[in-house]
Amino acid sequence: MRRLRTGSKQVIRDINRSIILNLIKSHGAVSRAELTQLSSLAAPTVSDIVAVLLDEGLIVETDTVISRRRGPRPVLLQLNVEGGAAVGIMLRADGMTLVVTDLMANVLHHAKQSFPPGLAPDELLEMVVDTIRVQVQQAGIAWDKVLGMGVGMTGVIDSTTGICRESYILGWSNVDVGGKLEATLAVPVHVDNDTKTLTVAEQHFGLGQQQHNFVLVTVGRGVGMGAVVNGELLRGHHDVGAEFGHVTMALDGPPCPCGNRGCLEAIASDVGIMQAAVAADQVRYGGTTIEQLTAWALDGDEQLRHIFEHAGIMLGIGVANLINLFAPELLVLTGEGLRAGELLLQPLRRTLPQCTFRGRLEQTSLAVKPWDPEWEPWARGAATLVLDDMLRLPLYEQASAVPPRRVKGANPAPRPGN
Ligand SMILES: [Zn+2]
Repeated sequence: MRRLRTGSKQVIRDINRSIILNLIKSHGAVSRAELTQLSSLAAPTVSDIVAVLLDEGLIVETDTVISRRRGPRPVLLQLNVEGGAAVGIMLRADGMTLVVTDLMANVLHHAKQSFPPGLAPDELLEMVVDTIRVQVQQAGIAWDKVLGMGVGMTGVIDSTTGICRESYILGWSNVDVGGKLEATLAVPVHVDNDTKTLTVAEQHFGLGQQQHNFVLVTVGRGVGMGAVVNGELLRGHHDVGAEFGHVTMALDGPPCPCGNRGCLEAIASDVGIMQAAVAADQVRYGGTTIEQLTAWALDGDEQLRHIFEHAGIMLGIGVANLINLFAPELLVLTGEGLRAGELLLQPLRRTLPQCTFRGRLEQTSLAVKPWDPEWEPWARGAATLVLDDMLRLPLYEQASAVPPRRVKGANPAPRPGN
């Protein structure tokens, strides 16, 4: 969980540690002298922090780069990729996907676990704990190497407290997921909405790596989004922003599990499409699956094709509004709902030019990313929450967040031991 840190000395020490770790990570291999120059910290301060990081095994000394200068070659420092591990899980109603990663978020181990239906939150979280313990052991990672764990899950998640405020899909309300897992596993636990963890994964290892502004939209059991604005994940107050699935498309539209009517999710998600099919013909479409409905529509069922067409148009209006609002360089569409392919995408693409602000569409690349049925990118994104936290500047966790590039002024007067 992301807590506020107070106490200026501790914050300053944490800031300096974070600055040094970030510099080592971003430069690959760097000497103490270069770190002193790059960080503007005093040499003894850099030396002290480096000693602690070496002691913790998070960095290692190396001399593999040949110096052009005369004299002794400087000892270089680099991130010890194997110096720690992170666990990432994607938690669903029917099961979980787990990855164990190294410090660069490379996946070392992957596992899946299904859950029996009808488990209470405590029972399900107990299964999560058991699975994590078994899988970390199977990955050959000592538990004291695990720096933390990230959980991606559906619903309204307050990532500052780790509490699942509301999940219609899981049927949970105010479940302290982070607290329960932290108390049992005794490692820091970061909980976030699953689409946000997928967006983080895309930002670090996927299509969003070169983009300062991009939006990711998921279509499946629900409709979700994540947005990176000027390089930062958009969160909103209490971290519960970006509820794209619950933007209202029609006041008299179909009912949504959130209690409103006409939400985008109630129209364009798998559940929305199944609901519309049953409303159109209970006898024919009742008791079927979304996979069956999709197959029938692809085979030419006109009634179903019309339902998918309407869903695609509504998605197109929603996506156009995101383009108008965020002016992203890239918009990524993904999720299991895209199994319907052109049934949804064709009306979506047709709608975009009608609803986007002049010239905005031409400046946005639209990418359709095939859905990974193993859910691994979602779990990897969750593991990245741990690594992000390790490198995060502590001031960022306070209400008056200061972007990293402006933090320099917050550095202390050079003094040994800081
Ligand atoms: Zn809704």
